[in-house]
Amino acid sequence: MKREYHFETKVIHEGYTDQDWMGSLTPPLFQTSTFSFASAEQGERRFAGEEEGYIYSRLKNPTVSIFEEKMAALENGERGLAFASGMAAVSAVLTSLTKAKDHILCSSGLYGCTFGLLSMMREKYDISLDFSEMETEEEVRSRIQPNTALIYIETPINPTMKLIDLEMVSRVAKERGIPVVVDNTFSSPYLQRPLDLGCDVVIHSATKYIGGHGDVIAGAVVGKKDFLDQVAMTTQKDMGGVMSPFDAWLLIRGLKTMPVRLDRHCDNAEIITSLLKEHPKVERVYYPHDSSHPDYSIGKKQMKRGGGVITFEVKGGKQEAQRLLNELSLIKIAVSLGDPETLIQHPQTMTHAVVPPENQGSMGITDSMLRLSVGLEAWEDIWRDLEQALDKI
Ligand SMILES: *Cc1c(COP(=O)(O)O)cnc(C)c1O
Repeated sequence: MKREYHFETKVIHEGYTDQDWMGSLTPPLFQTSTFSFASAEQGERRFAGEEEGYIYSRLKNPTVSIFEEKMAALENGERGLAFASGMAAVSAVLTSLTKAKDHILCSSGLYGCTFGLLSMMREKYDISLDFSEMETEEEVRSRIQPNTALIYIETPINPTMKLIDLEMVSRVAKERGIPVVVDNTFSSPYLQRPLDLGCDVVIHSATKYIGGHGDVIAGAVVGKKDFLDQVAMTTQKDMGGVMSPFDAWLLIRGLKTMPVRLDRHCDNAEIITSLLKEHPKVERVYYPHDSSHPDYSIGKKQMKRGGGVITFEVKGGKQEAQRLLNELSLIKIAVSLGDPETLIQHPQTMTHAVVPPENQGSMGITDSMLRLSVGLEAWEDIWRDLEQALDKI
């Protein structure tokens, strides 16, 4: 794989050679479920793995493979795999790496459905879970047990934007040969590349910044070839949460503008952060590259920029937070992030409603907390909407 191009060039050119596809500058959409064989013998060779080629789109599809190669190149991994959703990617990785009675060490905050999936695994397969702040080497080392199967991390953590030092955790995990899995959805590979920091597996909800247009649900995993070959042959193929060719086509298109979009998301988020911090109705603002952020030094070290998501607390409680949402007009009340539209949601009653109150508390989620996915609109218009709503609460 070529490595010499800059990231902004790779998103456009990696994983695709137009002359291999009749000069089609844009990758073709292979909207087909199956592929015919020229002969019985060829079918036999394909199934035996003796001949490269396509069989059935749940196993491999050309458009999906182009997306997978691009993702591998962008995360600096050996292989990429595409999934029907971020959660299909998370569940394929987690079930691949664990067996009954294993232990999983997790970051203190997790995406709501990942928390739900892990809770189900705890009940059904007697898997034990440990949630850790992972602030020091000693803390990570002391939480590792003989049956620890993996360390699962989100950074920035949704919705509190707490950060975990990926280089530090992967160094400690290596001492014990434990794989470190990182959900990199909030950063995108443009802002943070966990494999470069020593982590083993990267997961994305491609629904967010990879697609970037709010029109597809998709997931991706990148890592070492041996492990991803195993996932491809087992939990991907047999559980079957594979990506549709059309979704891969949309994502290939979305990827081409990812760095341009991300820079604009970040420009807007930096300005909105500074304005929110000065507003009298705002109690606190959480943004990774803001100097008041408790993990600012980790943010500067491992993230190119702070990303497009800001979490803030309004003065008051749930009532004031909900009032703010209801006063907005340009900004849409919606979960998800990374869309061109600015979106806002109330984590306690929306994305993290499945998390029991005691866990919400230890994750730092409060009733006055709002999560803003800053879009691509003019920052002046985003701020005007926020300011008029803040003035009313
Ligand atoms: C959205 C999201 C997921 C789940 O992805 P889907 O594409 O909705 O299945 C997982 N992790 C994080 C951090 C997310 O934001």
